[in-house]
Amino acid sequence: MEFALLNGEIIERSEAKVDVEDRGYQFGDGVYEVIRIYNGKMFTIDEHLKRFVKSADSIGISIPFTSLQLLEMLEELLIKNKLETGNIYMQVTRGISPRNHLFPTGNVEPTLVAYTIKGVRPLDSLKSGVKAILTEDLRWLRCDIKSLNLLGNLLAKQKASEEGCFEAIQHRGQDVTEGSSSNIFIVKDGSVITHESNNLILKGITKDVILELCTKNNIQVQERTFSLAELEEAEEVFLSSTTAEVMPIIEIDGKKIRAGVPGPINKKLQELFEKEIEKQCGLLVDKV
Ligand code: PMP
Repeated sequence: MEFALLNGEIIERSEAKVDVEDRGYQFGDGVYEVIRIYNGKMFTIDEHLKRFVKSADSIGISIPFTSLQLLEMLEELLIKNKLETGNIYMQVTRGISPRNHLFPTGNVEPTLVAYTIKGVRPLDSLKSGVKAILTEDLRWLRCDIKSLNLLGNLLAKQKASEEGCFEAIQHRGQDVTEGSSSNIFIVKDGSVITHESNNLILKGITKDVILELCTKNNIQVQERTFSLAELEEAEEVFLSSTTAEVMPIIEIDGKKIRAGVPGPINKKLQELFEKEIEKQCGLLVDKV
């Protein structure tokens, strides 16, 4: 039997239902997190909980549990679902209220949901790399909030998929921002470059782990905006996310990067990233 967390209670997943007037359902009025599980343990959980609270705060939703309570409930959910490798999906919305653009007044409790999804590491893609397309970034100007409103991201990802690609690299004019569900990195003159964490991108937790690994291992990093021209001339390109880890990009809009072979800095970072997973979650059986 599978279980889900609904407003502080762990119940049978098939029983976890929300009302048609939940504001998450009607407006996407809420925020979410995806947390990676290796060996039954949560990777970078403190960072995910912090970002969850920060996203909620930034749209005026007050999560009715402390981070410690959330942590304990998620741990219980993992144990009940016997999840070894996969993800936890968690979201909070502004709650249930008669449909109105204005925030509800009075005591409307946020709706908090979490459940687990089984899923192995994408080892084949991590080894051989993935293809991407370029697309104009059509999203709003608060991409730093991990909002349930993902239409811009969905349209970009769908377009990529229809062109046989894994990811859409978004740009605002000549400036590269981020992927539809990932952060984007280039290597230039041996230096790792990725967009600074401002309102135009999500401050990826995997991105921050990678930046720290670079600093600790004497790999030069620059957090700054880079251009489409720099992307085109890059020595290496890769993306990062909770589920895709450190993923080589080997082709963009049909043009191969490094003749379609993942680069040395990308490979080194994959190795360091696996060590970081093992530090937090125990030994990995299969590695890149
Ligand atoms: N940017 C966007 C738009 C995303 O959806 C994601 C995936 N959550 C990321 C970046 C990467 O963030 P993280 O490393 O925290 O998964």
